[in-house]
Amino acid sequence: MSKRCPKCGKTSDTVQFYGQFCKNCVEKDISEALPESTEVILCKNCGKIRLQGKFVKDTGQNMQEVIQSAFKNYKIILIDYNVDDSTADVSFGKDKNGEVIPVEKKIELRFKKMLCESCSRRAGSYYEAVMQLRGNKERMERFIDRVNKYFERRGEFIAKVKEADNGYDVYLSNKKLASAYISSHNLETVNSYTLYGVKHGKKVYRHTYSIRL
Ligand SMILES: [Zn+2]
Ligand SMILES: [Zn+2]
Repeated sequence: MSKRCPKCGKTSDTVQFYGQFCKNCVEKDISEALPESTEVILCKNCGKIRLQGKFVKDTGQNMQEVIQSAFKNYKIILIDYNVDDSTADVSFGKDKNGEVIPVEKKIELRFKKMLCESCSRRAGSYYEAVMQLRGNKERMERFIDRVNKYFERRGEFIAKVKEADNGYDVYLSNKKLASAYISSHNLETVNSYTLYGVKHGKKVYRHTYSIRL
């Protein structure tokens, strides 16, 4: 005997059924409840991702397990993911009366950047930008205080401060933040860039800002 879907009226002669509902309606229900995004913790220095409290290599298998551990009610299969545009194509398998029904969805990977244990041990040597301060000692010290607060409020840090001739070199964990600080305070700087490596096929530069105070 053919079944009729109570939601849309289709019969089992034309579409597949799961229980009393048709495939389309069941998949639509599952799809509406699926998440839009998930958080992935990423080491900003070495690019490892955190899985069950440990940092591991960013492989498809590990990324799948990271997503699986965030969504325990689904059987997760990672189809594809893209670190540059922060998205993942995921198959969410939902158990309905012992039958796993897979529904695909593109979700956002919200990368939260921090340092893994081994990189934070070397945190003193991790930096993206240097502010070379020269000028009045008191002004420079007040400046370092303000930069420190600005960075800490945004989850970043001053890696080290080195005394130099007539000033200080301040090593900073984030070059975008360094540049944002400089432009929001209308500071006049002389900038230079040094290549320090290649990540994901792109050249990575350290920024040095010379600032007179
Ligand atoms: Zn239906
Ligand atoms: Zn690391």
